[in-house]
Amino acid sequence: MNIAQNSFEKCIKCTICTVYCPVAKANPNYPGPKECGPDGARLRIKSLDYYDQALKLCTNCKRCETACPSNVNVGDIIAVARGKFEKKVINPKLMRDFILSQTDLFGTLSTPFAPIVNKITDSQIIKTVMHKTIGIDKHKALPKYSLGTFRNWFKKNAPDQEQYPRQVSYFHGCYVNYNDPDLGKDLLKVLNAMNIGLKLLNKEKCCGVPLIANGFHDKARKNARFNVKNMTEAVEKFNTPILSTSSTCSFTLKQEYPHVLDVDNSQVVDKIEYITSFLLREFMNGNAPKLKEINKTIVYHTPCHLERSGLAIFTIELLRAIPGLKVIVLESECCGLAGTYGFKKENYDVSMKIGKHLFETIKNSDADYAITDCETCKWQIEENTHLKTIHPINLLAQGLTV
Ligand code: SF4
Ligand code: SF4
Repeated sequence: MNIAQNSFEKCIKCTICTVYCPVAKANPNYPGPKECGPDGARLRIKSLDYYDQALKLCTNCKRCETACPSNVNVGDIIAVARGKFEKKVINPKLMRDFILSQTDLFGTLSTPFAPIVNKITDSQIIKTVMHKTIGIDKHKALPKYSLGTFRNWFKKNAPDQEQYPRQVSYFHGCYVNYNDPDLGKDLLKVLNAMNIGLKLLNKEKCCGVPLIANGFHDKARKNARFNVKNMTEAVEKFNTPILSTSSTCSFTLKQEYPHVLDVDNSQVVDKIEYITSFLLREFMNGNAPKLKEINKTIVYHTPCHLERSGLAIFTIELLRAIPGLKVIVLESECCGLAGTYGFKKENYDVSMKIGKHLFETIKNSDADYAITDCETCKWQIEENTHLKTIHPINLLAQGLTV
């Protein structure tokens, strides 16, 4: 039995989770985490007829879990119920959910033809067709693909990495592999400047978070088992830490595998680490790269899953270690995109309502960049504020003196 299935017993019915839930605030049709989570779980044990379609409105942001004083896995309870009880009805929305969650498949097909695919998905006619047929909202720009993958680029650089005295393994995730190889390249530069070499896992698949969010739990479980196997092999062979530059990938590999998918990751969980926590520890132990002054102002946005992991402080302190940089830490709130959620026609208005305060704060900030650890927060902020939004690693790479 996974953790989510029995944690409802700890609920003391304080309703704090509902106060902190961004969807409950923005959408009066959503009953909120307490009702959909622990209250609903008690009823669903009696009969599946109590399953409520409103659970689909949850973004899986986990802010309810961060707020809960009783440590109830509220978001996990909802995610597990959706995977278990939601009936997959064959309709255009199912095709849309499939497209949005098959990141490896569409990444592999699209990267060789990236300029053409990007042009097609950017066309207003195509956006309107997707809006009317499968329900991807016409206001949204689909993520751009890179021409060629990070893994292919890395093959040429792998031998150099062996020369460093210490190595780390890197779970690059779909975003770095298919959309933004430059983030992986910047990580390599930063680590090399610290005399650390980079390794990739023998193989990896999507961490599974879009599959979980869209109710494809069997496929997510297959990916989880595959990734745990490959991470275990890396640990057994090299005993390296396994780093991730995506706050959501690292959260999923560490917490969602056992909590939501019932996949045992105990043999590797202590080795998986979000990049900024690893780097800050290195900096504090005297292994910081030489950095020049970056005389810029940045606003920092904390992604929901980093907040839930309790790791935002590591990113903030790492940014504060960059000489000359003025760091403004924004109030921690959801950007509203929540992975694939905000791309869906039926969620678009709620998504924008959730993100409105964040967008206005950023627009009024006069910052040179927004910084965030999550790729989907980056898309949402750039689309709605037009401020260039980058990862902390991109900024560190800018500051390197060599
Ligand atoms: S915050 Fe936790 S304890 Fe309070 S109602 Fe929500 S789940 Fe229950
Ligand atoms: S995971 Fe997020 S959207 Fe879902 S119930 Fe919790 S706070 Fe609300």
